Amino acid sequence: MSNTQIRTILEPARSIPVSVEYDVLVVGGGPAGITAALAAAEDGLRVGLIESRSFVGGNMTIGLPVLGFLGQKGNQIIDGLPEKFIQRLRRERDGASEHRPCPLHMGITLVEPEAVKTVALEMLTEAGVDVLFYTFFSDAIMDGDDIRGVIVESKSGRNAILAKVVLDCSGDADVAFRAGVPTEKGNAQGGMQPPTLMFCLAGVDTDALRMSIANAPPQARTYLTDFIPAEYFGQNHQFIVVGLRELMAKAKEERGLKIPNERTIIITGLKKGEVWINMTRVKGTDGTDARSLTKGEIEGRAQIDDIVTYLVNYVPGFEKAYFTKTAPFIGIRETRRIVGRYVMTQDDVLACKHFDDAIAVASYPIDIHRPADDGCTLIWCGDCYDIPFGSLVPQKVRNLLVAGRSISATHEAMGAIRVMATCMAMGEAAGRAAKMSVRSNRAVADIDVEELRRQQLEHGVYLRNPDGTRALPGGRSAAA
Ligand SMILES: Cc1cc2nc3c(=O)[nH]c(=O)nc-3n(C[C@H](O)[C@H](O)[C@H](O)COP(=O)(O)OP(=O)(O)OC[C@H]3O[C@@H](n4cnc5c(N)ncnc54)[C@H](O)[C@@H]3O)c2cc1C
Repeated sequence: MSNTQIRTILEPARSIPVSVEYDVLVVGGGPAGITAALAAAEDGLRVGLIESRSFVGGNMTIGLPVLGFLGQKGNQIIDGLPEKFIQRLRRERDGASEHRPCPLHMGITLVEPEAVKTVALEMLTEAGVDVLFYTFFSDAIMDGDDIRGVIVESKSGRNAILAKVVLDCSGDADVAFRAGVPTEKGNAQGGMQPPTLMFCLAGVDTDALRMSIANAPPQARTYLTDFIPAEYFGQNHQFIVVGLRELMAKAKEERGLKIPNERTIIITGLKKGEVWINMTRVKGTDGTDARSLTKGEIEGRAQIDDIVTYLVNYVPGFEKAYFTKTAPFIGIRETRRIVGRYVMTQDDVLACKHFDDAIAVASYPIDIHRPADDGCTLIWCGDCYDIPFGSLVPQKVRNLLVAGRSISATHEAMGAIRVMATCMAMGEAAGRAAKMSVRSNRAVADIDVEELRRQQLEHGVYLRNPDGTRALPGGRSAAA
């Protein structure tokens, strides 16, 4: 019998074991989930973190630099736990670069994926967080509008995990969706940003690459990058190249290469001669659908050979380059977003909006890999904008928060708030809010946000005063 003939089956009701009970359960161990669990556990609560993979780090393990630490005015606007994490990566494992200014991305912080996995796990276990790998969230246990815990699937079978507060850091709003929270996907046409299977090359002469851009005569437009002046590459040995459009167009024409991207995107790694390539692109993939995700992996992988052919034969510095590995999974830029207490919009981002309930500050531009074509839309606001607590609070369920790329924002605003430093900052706020909820015996949606902001400041989180200056504990200010 083929699958198409089977419409539904009736799954018999059954008792399943409650495997463990926590004060706070974090679902998903990506950038948001790591800091959420660390903050929730900071004064001794029972905190669990479930992760479907065999490591924590989420998209921070696929060869991407962390964006978002520096603002559009060059100042550091993410501090607190995310900064502690980066400092430890740098100090103990040579696993992170400085926060380097970049004219297009504002700030780039290169990280070593294996070091991310190790250091994040060390920090979580030292903090007493009970990490459970190979464990897939599959359903929410509801009691009216309260979430009492989750159903998970693993090699151990189907289990229940109970918790007073649940933090959805799945990136896909999996928990919120199953709990009945309204969610949205994509732009007005339902189109979502396409995913990318990242891959790594070694043997690249990155100095030859950067100097060919820095020294290219103005008429040699083939080495032109998007928004980043050529001189930048003369001064920086760790960088992202975005552009080389004419060069790629030439390669496509001469060799008939199939590369569904207008731009070359090369990210230097921390190891000498290593670069990560952010150029595969699989339009129409839905990261919440296993069949579609599988198709994305197949098509993403199939695109790699032509991209390597282009790089090795056309891009300076790649003459001796060779393929080493793909990322452990295709990187998903966009899926569900909750519709929460407040929906962040493009106007909020572009107006550099201040919110009285701000729990983090961000500055990354709106950066949308357009769902329907091979291009990208970038819009800068000139400064910073706040992330309000209300965008982490889902409608309907009061003891659940969402942190990371699936908070309550429009498709356009999500294109800005999605970068990893910002996601870590949201996670820290969500974890601290969950801790306050358990300690005060109030639903997390109803916590005292002023008190949360006060605690955030005490833990070194970067928040702004309405005049744009940095807010400090005790109502003090610093220069913006
Ligand atoms: C190709 C690509 C390029 C990007 N470039 C950059 C960049 O250069 N710099 C930057 O800062 N950001 C970049 N981003 C954006 C950024 O990586 C993400 O928006 C960010 O990682 C989101 O963080 P998160 O914690 O919300 O989710 P994720 O990083 O996706 O982490 C979610 C975690 O939850 C786990 N999980 C999911 N569902 C379940 C479940 N049901 N049960 C158990 N566990 C689950 C996942 O395994 C994962 O570990 C890029 C994204 C992509 C895809």
